[in-house]
Amino acid sequence: MSKAGVYLHIPFCGRKCSYCDFYSLPADQSQMETYTAALERDIARSHGIEADTLYLGGGTPTLLGERRLRRLMEAVKEHFSFAGEATIEANPESVTPGLLSALFDMGFNRISFGVQSMREEELSLLRRRHTPQRAEQAILAAYEAGFRNISADVMLALPKQTKETLGYTLSRFTALPLTHISAYLLQLEEGTPLADSHPVLPDEDETAALYLMTVDTLQKAGFRQYEISNFAKEGYPCRHNLKYWQGEPYVGLGAAAHGCIENRRYAYPRDIKRYLTGAPPEDLGAAGGFEETVMLRLRLTEGMAFQNSRVIAGMRPCEEAGLVVIEGNRLRLTPRGFLVSNLLIGRVVELGGQKE
Ligand code: SF4
Repeated sequence: MSKAGVYLHIPFCGRKCSYCDFYSLPADQSQMETYTAALERDIARSHGIEADTLYLGGGTPTLLGERRLRRLMEAVKEHFSFAGEATIEANPESVTPGLLSALFDMGFNRISFGVQSMREEELSLLRRRHTPQRAEQAILAAYEAGFRNISADVMLALPKQTKETLGYTLSRFTALPLTHISAYLLQLEEGTPLADSHPVLPDEDETAALYLMTVDTLQKAGFRQYEISNFAKEGYPCRHNLKYWQGEPYVGLGAAAHGCIENRRYAYPRDIKRYLTGAPPEDLGAAGGFEETVMLRLRLTEGMAFQNSRVIAGMRPCEEAGLVVIEGNRLRLTPRGFLVSNLLIGRVVELGGQKE
């Protein structure tokens, strides 16, 4: 069996961003202390599972500070016999050169910065706490601290975003020592301050143009697309996230964390109080059905092989339209196909369910 990934959810943030509906809480020192102890408890409970990727996501994991992060890393090494890719998410304003050196020293070898934009007006609309300069300094400081696998997120289809403003952000990104870039389309989540302000967003055609420009710009800068929203220099795709899409096991711990072990999916409640009491996760049922596998695999640019010839035959018109590529019995979506991935995946699932 392949080794597992370990995901630790750290639900603390310095301030709520205007578009965010993730489970996150104010960074209260005493609650962060209790939460770290609860994670140590659950890491110890998983003793014996071997892991080769670790991902601390949030929230803003770096807000835990050096001492608590070191405790978590030690517990992961001990109970999961961990060695491999170890990622920590960070916001640019939440790191100092000292903390970055400590993170590298304790065993993190990959850092993912939530940058989102290099335009002041966009960062302020998103209620991010950093400036473009601070983001740049944080990435350079991470490199200086020893990190050679550095990722940054960029957000597409922001209000008033144009090819020029996005192109500016991408050009600043590609001039930095990044090995990985995640590019997400802004989703307006009901009840968030940004959604409540009813912003005018780029329309469908403009959004498509922004996405395709991102794929093209990053490709030219040496970042190969390997997933609908993810781009990496040669050898740097995120191994932890690949486990999700390739149906490999992962342990998820923390309030609101999801996991999948021995082919069963589970989720902890989005409620820190319940998590702290040691309440077990909810069983979400068996993983790996045909529909789920198609949904996950077709997010990857390598696509998926189909034994059912109806799938391949039925998708030929989409190939002629430039939305998919078919090589033998393998089907993969093109960047234009990714823009309508829900429709294409739905069609594949429907075809796959038909008898040959
Ligand atoms: S830092 Fe991330 S998790 Fe925290 S509020 Fe902002 S978007 Fe949400």
